[in-house]
Amino acid sequence: MILRNISLKPYNTFGLDYKANCLAELSSEEEAVDFLRDKKLCREPLLIIGEGSNILFTGDYKGTIIYAKIEGIKVDEQNDQHIIVSAGSGVKWNHFVEWCVNNGYGGVENLSLIPGLVGATPVQNIGAYGMEVKDTIEKVRTINISNGSVREFSNEECRFGYRDSIFKKDLKSKYLVIKVFFKLNTIPSFKIEYGSLKKEVEKLGEINLRNVRQAVINIRRCKLPDTEVFGNAGSFFKNPVVNKTEAENLFLKYPYIPHYFSFPGGIKLAAGWLIEQCGWKEKRIGGAGVYDKQALVLINHGNATGKDIYDLSEAIKQSVLRKFGLELEREVEIIGPI
Ligand SMILES: Cc1cc2nc3c(=O)[nH]c(=O)nc-3n(C[C@H](O)[C@H](O)[C@H](O)COP(=O)(O)OP(=O)(O)OC[C@H]3O[C@@H](n4cnc5c(N)ncnc54)[C@H](O)[C@@H]3O)c2cc1C
Repeated sequence: MILRNISLKPYNTFGLDYKANCLAELSSEEEAVDFLRDKKLCREPLLIIGEGSNILFTGDYKGTIIYAKIEGIKVDEQNDQHIIVSAGSGVKWNHFVEWCVNNGYGGVENLSLIPGLVGATPVQNIGAYGMEVKDTIEKVRTINISNGSVREFSNEECRFGYRDSIFKKDLKSKYLVIKVFFKLNTIPSFKIEYGSLKKEVEKLGEINLRNVRQAVINIRRCKLPDTEVFGNAGSFFKNPVVNKTEAENLFLKYPYIPHYFSFPGGIKLAAGWLIEQCGWKEKRIGGAGVYDKQALVLINHGNATGKDIYDLSEAIKQSVLRKFGLELEREVEIIGPI
């Protein structure tokens, strides 16, 4: 289905009311292949979106937005310990996690309540509470944007990193993800050592998939704003990763920086704490503000423009650089003029 001159308000969790010239809602692999083979129907450039929960629009989109709404969850293979389940790009991620937990399949429960669609998960390599989706992805089925051919990427070919993958780098905007195959455990093992998760699970009773999922949901509901109340895109910045010498120098001056040693590639520092120390908590620029319970989250107080939110993020970046000598990297993708 092709929609023209459409408001993007329902397609981004900041709730910004910009317009796109054209939006193509593709609900099957066949429809997506046909559309991408014959792009004459719509104006370029093309932009792929899911729920728009990691995107900041700063103006109207003068091109075509592709929204891959392919539904369906299917068990593909099973043995004593593992099961391969495939999910369409348009399945809501949190619905997929719920389905896995209800069926007793482990591996994604710590990623409960993360907004967005399945199709974006390998692009973003979403993560939370010590888990990353890369640890469960078997392969990713895609369509080449330029010629409509189908290609599957193995886990290794996706070149996953911290909130990163080949689809965000060398192959950015070149492949539309239409289906993701997950390898899940039929005999779950649990990862609950991160933050306050263990305590929260214990409050609920025994350690099982349902309680881990519920504990994650409870913690997230306390810490993160509901996008229906305050438009936001979760963590606006990535947590900076530094080497041992850089960390030691910082700890001499700021011994209380929250950090995680067991992070591949170095020591991960809590960006929210760095931002808070620069005095940003609850501050506003125009209609954009820093969330009071978590300084890593920027919110729309109702009347923000994309530019307000971008300007706030830029001011935060500058002050963290001045105070700590650390360059914060945005996790949220900026689309439009800045
Ligand atoms: C309240 C809140 C909490 C959050 N918490 C977390 C968290 O704990 N951990 C975390 O990792 N993230 C978190 N996020 C960020 C966000 O939910 C994830 O990045 C999510 O995977 C984005 O999904 P989406 O469908 O909204 O993708 P979008 O934001 O629409 O797109 C994200 C990127 O993926 C690309 N893309 C989307 N779909 C496809 C596709 N089918 N094929 C190819 N490319 C595609 C887009 O072009 C874009 O580059 C949070 C966001 C919010 C609002």
